[in-house]
Amino acid sequence: MSTNRRRFLSTSISAAIVGSTTAWTSASWGADAPPLALPKLPWEANALDPIISSNTVGFHYGKHHRGYFDNLNRLLPASGLTGLSLEALVKATADRADRVALFNNAAQAWNHSFYWNSLSPQGGGKPGAELGTRIDAAFGSLDELRKTVLANSAAQFGSGWVWLALDKASNKLIVVKTGNADTPIAGESVVPLAVIDVWEHAYYLDYQNRRADYASALFDKLLNWRFVEANLTTA
Ligand code: MN
Repeated sequence: MSTNRRRFLSTSISAAIVGSTTAWTSASWGADAPPLALPKLPWEANALDPIISSNTVGFHYGKHHRGYFDNLNRLLPASGLTGLSLEALVKATADRADRVALFNNAAQAWNHSFYWNSLSPQGGGKPGAELGTRIDAAFGSLDELRKTVLANSAAQFGSGWVWLALDKASNKLIVVKTGNADTPIAGESVVPLAVIDVWEHAYYLDYQNRRADYASALFDKLLNWRFVEANLTTA
């Protein structure tokens, strides 16, 4: 278990971490949709081109993300855990040796939905004044936050995620990384605000081994500050 994970598990997190402006709350799927359906992308598949190509989005969303939902729906009937929300399923299976496959697929399903909403063709640039003030208070400046995000992206060994998050105890913005499928919502101490997927499948078609180029381009051009602000509002 990672250090981050132990820290996440130490306190409690709100289940209502998804901002009201997001496109993928269960309510938006419609009353007839299955509870664990793959949400629609919040933009067209080519909308992030050339920072993230439609080719990457096609595989990443259409194969990887869909695959996690398919696995989940295949595993669920025999699990005794049907009927839970995706968030509740992540929490119910976290750190359970007998639930590893369910956790990995549920967490990856959730993380990817959060990732798509963390990106916007109108993203990047500067956050609003209020969020900017909170960033300055926590990191010194937007550029220092950028450096911290990129350092965490580089430091994540192998597959994982880099999160901008709210530490509930201190009410301060923080940057944390998690390995593989691990996610802040498995624990209770941190509210995720935005995430960068640093699994190779997120960037290899466009950037090959250059993770730093992918992460910096994403931060500068796509990071959805409106999503961060919406998640802070409901945190
Ligand atoms: Mn991914």
